Amino acid sequence: MKVVKTIQEAREIIAAWRKEGLSVGLVPTMGYLHEGHQSLIAKSVSQNDRTVVSVFVNPIQFGPNEDLEAYPRDLNRDMQLVEATGGDLIFNPEPSEMYPPHFTSFIDTTETTELLCGAVRPIHFRGVCTVVGKLFNIVRPDRAYFGQKDAQQLATIRRFVRDLNFGIEIVPCPIVREADGLAKSSRNTYLSPAERQAALILSKSLKLGKEAIENGEKDAKKVIEIIKANLATEPLARIDYVEVVDFENIQRVDTISGETLVAIAVYIGKTRLIDNFIIG
Ligand code: AMP
Repeated sequence: MKVVKTIQEAREIIAAWRKEGLSVGLVPTMGYLHEGHQSLIAKSVSQNDRTVVSVFVNPIQFGPNEDLEAYPRDLNRDMQLVEATGGDLIFNPEPSEMYPPHFTSFIDTTETTELLCGAVRPIHFRGVCTVVGKLFNIVRPDRAYFGQKDAQQLATIRRFVRDLNFGIEIVPCPIVREADGLAKSSRNTYLSPAERQAALILSKSLKLGKEAIENGEKDAKKVIEIIKANLATEPLARIDYVEVVDFENIQRVDTISGETLVAIAVYIGKTRLIDNFIIG
């Protein structure tokens, strides 16, 4: 397992693999890796001859009052996890390597980024799509792996890969959770013990919404009400959004039918957590 910091070094290593006819999988991450990331890496290792993991806290996807500086970083720990999972290369560029002076070109998306996190984090997806597009051009993988944890991101990346003809297979991976149901996230490290306990309200509330749908509820508004009412029982929780959308286009639905995404964002204290389920 190697770690490289420059685009040129990454390209040279990957070009040598390609010369040998090897297939390449890419797992884009912001580091501080946990079992969620590990499941993506393991899937890539099982489907490709070589796996590249990018570890890059992408400054252009953070808004001015977001947690760019505070975002947890530990490359040594990440190296151990990637090595243990069978990854071959970590690409860990500095921001100046990815965004040299006069960097002025961006990948912009519409439809799938209008609602949910796109509505409350206005520059977020432009930053995500731009960095992922750059990583696709640097690595030129056969396949790239994304978690359903960030469902709107997954739908958006699928869309721009199709729209812009990247010719890369996007492989979705299920949400990995703690034993008590909390979706694993690098941001969980921000939570105090009391907040960590309070954060269970996300998965518990989603479970109630899911059960209602499974028991025949088709009215999106009613499902949203059930989830909101349960979130409101936790004093440390403040709702950012609760939405029911079709998973392909990320547009609101009134009646639940077909592949539907039920997604929530909730502040627990100062920490903003997201979670979701997909049904149908
Ligand atoms: P991040 O480092 O948070 O940008 O995440 C990198 C990738 O890992 C994204 O595709 C995420 O959706 C995925 N990921 C993060 N947490 C989880 C999780 N708990 N389960 C599955 N995938 C995850």
